[in-house]
Amino acid sequence: MAKLISGKEVSAKVREEVKAQCEQLKARGIHPGLAVIIVGDDPASRVYVNNKKKACAEVGFISEEYALPQQTTQEELLSLINELNNNPKINGILCQLPLPSHLDEKAVINAISPEKDVDAFHPSNVGKIMIGDYHFLPCTPAGVMEMIKSEGIEVKGKNCVVIGRSNIVGKPMAMLLLHEHGTVTICHSRTKNLKEVCAAADILVAAVGKAKFVTADMVKPGAVVLDVGINRLENGKLCGDVDFDSVEPKASYITPVPGGVGPMTIAMLMKNTLMAAKLQNGLE
Ligand code: NAD
Repeated sequence: MAKLISGKEVSAKVREEVKAQCEQLKARGIHPGLAVIIVGDDPASRVYVNNKKKACAEVGFISEEYALPQQTTQEELLSLINELNNNPKINGILCQLPLPSHLDEKAVINAISPEKDVDAFHPSNVGKIMIGDYHFLPCTPAGVMEMIKSEGIEVKGKNCVVIGRSNIVGKPMAMLLLHEHGTVTICHSRTKNLKEVCAAADILVAAVGKAKFVTADMVKPGAVVLDVGINRLENGKLCGDVDFDSVEPKASYITPVPGGVGPMTIAMLMKNTLMAAKLQNGLE
């Protein structure tokens, strides 16, 4: 039976630490602020934005929401980002993705000042992560690493397999495991012998976006299994990319969904916003 790594517990510790440091900053007259932009009325995006605002309030940050209508033009969105880039009260800027299809996501990501890019999506921050000289880490992969560290699991020399190669999860996840000296394989939709590759993993990260994709036959006995997926089943319940019931008895550690990687992502966003406030005040 695997030990559960609780994202609720680990993220609570991260948020506590951020809160304590935020209080110290406030005592010095610095009040960290995060601007969250949401365009249109996608219900999932609305839930994420509300959760981010709630987390800001809990740790003591100022949060400003910019809810723009669906028909917002590229020019209007870029003009708001430019204003926020120049607003000294705002340390972090986050534009909730996905954007409506008429907007150019790449241009929006590029427009956010790298110093305020708390999602770490800007090419400049992505490059810094690649060379291992960074201030911000992308929130979801950073959250997974925090969960691994919370259990004292060593990555060094381990066979690590990441399923998924997206820019926001799979690729940076592989890079962070590599920074910790893992031997990393990235799998994707065109990988051959996926089952065999996964079954050789000591540490297996699933970021596919397909419910119950990772089955017990893809998991080595005693593997550490981290499930990034968030999928909604027909019955309305949330489910990860890992078939939890069959994999759990075989793994040594496993993250649940919900209550696993999800809460970590927001906690790491708080950590990045704190870092942004420190950097912009010459404290890092
Ligand atoms: P994505 O769709 O951008 O990428 C999915 C990846 O899976 C692709 O690289 C693709 O090559 C790979 N893939 C698809 N089918 C495959 C197959 N049959 N075999 C092997 N690989 C295959 O998705 P994403 O943005 O990286 O997100 C992945 C999952 O993580 C989604 O469920 C998403 O909701 C979830 N997610 C969770 C958090 C969180 O906070 N927990 C954050 C971001 C994303």
